[in-house]
Amino acid sequence: MRKLAALLLLPLSTLSVAPAWAAADRSAFFVSFAEQEARLAKVAYRLSTANANWCPKIEQQPGWLLSDLRRFQASDQKAATATYGAGDAPFIAAVAPGSPAERANLRRGVRIAAIDGQALAPSGDAPTIRVDTAIVALSARDAGAAWTMTDTEGRQYRVPSSPGCASAFRIELGGAQAAANGLLVRMTHDLAQSIDDEEELAAVIAHELSHNILRHRDRLGSDRSAARVQRTELEADRLAVWLMAGAGYDPAAAIRFWNRHKRPLIRAATHPPRSERIVAIESEIAAMQAAKIADPAARPVWIANPPPLE
Ligand SMILES: [Zn+2]
Repeated sequence: MRKLAALLLLPLSTLSVAPAWAAADRSAFFVSFAEQEARLAKVAYRLSTANANWCPKIEQQPGWLLSDLRRFQASDQKAATATYGAGDAPFIAAVAPGSPAERANLRRGVRIAAIDGQALAPSGDAPTIRVDTAIVALSARDAGAAWTMTDTEGRQYRVPSSPGCASAFRIELGGAQAAANGLLVRMTHDLAQSIDDEEELAAVIAHELSHNILRHRDRLGSDRSAARVQRTELEADRLAVWLMAGAGYDPAAAIRFWNRHKRPLIRAATHPPRSERIVAIESEIAAMQAAKIADPAARPVWIANPPPLE
């Protein structure tokens, strides 16, 4: 259960209310929240499955985002139910176009009771425990075989297999603007909404997904000195270039994002200055292009065996 424990280390900042949205218009907020979930589902599905052939760890990526009404305050339950439907179970919040989840006729609001006939058995009552339990149950399935989901009405859905780089994805109400904890990529509603361009959104998600692929949380361990954290940031920037290109996105979208987004995502000495990141991204784009001229199937050779952080 180590995986589940790691997921649960997330702060409970998800319970905070984004101040930009007054209580008067919570229905509009949840419509917007679900829109950003749909954008994240689309980009995450594309990035994770298009690069599956060289990610070291593969799992099922059905192209969905999961949620739970327990994540939302009591005063928001009515507005959230108007968007996601009612029911006391984890549910599908978004489905990527063309994904196995969509082909299996899974839609927003479908509530999950079992995966491959195994009823979800969450331990505890944390706001995301039921979602995390479903994520862990699915990640334990064979990434190369079709599987079955049962909803709370007893309907069964046969979902085609879809191997992808291992990670779950979530839109948050608050907390850090974007983060990755080894298993989950998280982004706030406000950050996602501030990025109109899908390629720039993909650049941010590719960076966070890179942290998970490169096992940065595990590799840093307890020594999170500024120098070591900066190394992980630049590694993630570089791998994101390959993920973007592999999924058919323009890797230079990351540079556009950093040029436009003057305020750092995390204001800390552990994060390299914007100018340094742009140089790293530009040089990785050049290195990738040269590698692909020599071998169209080139992959980042250091992905499975990254050098020590020192
Ligand atoms: Zn980062």
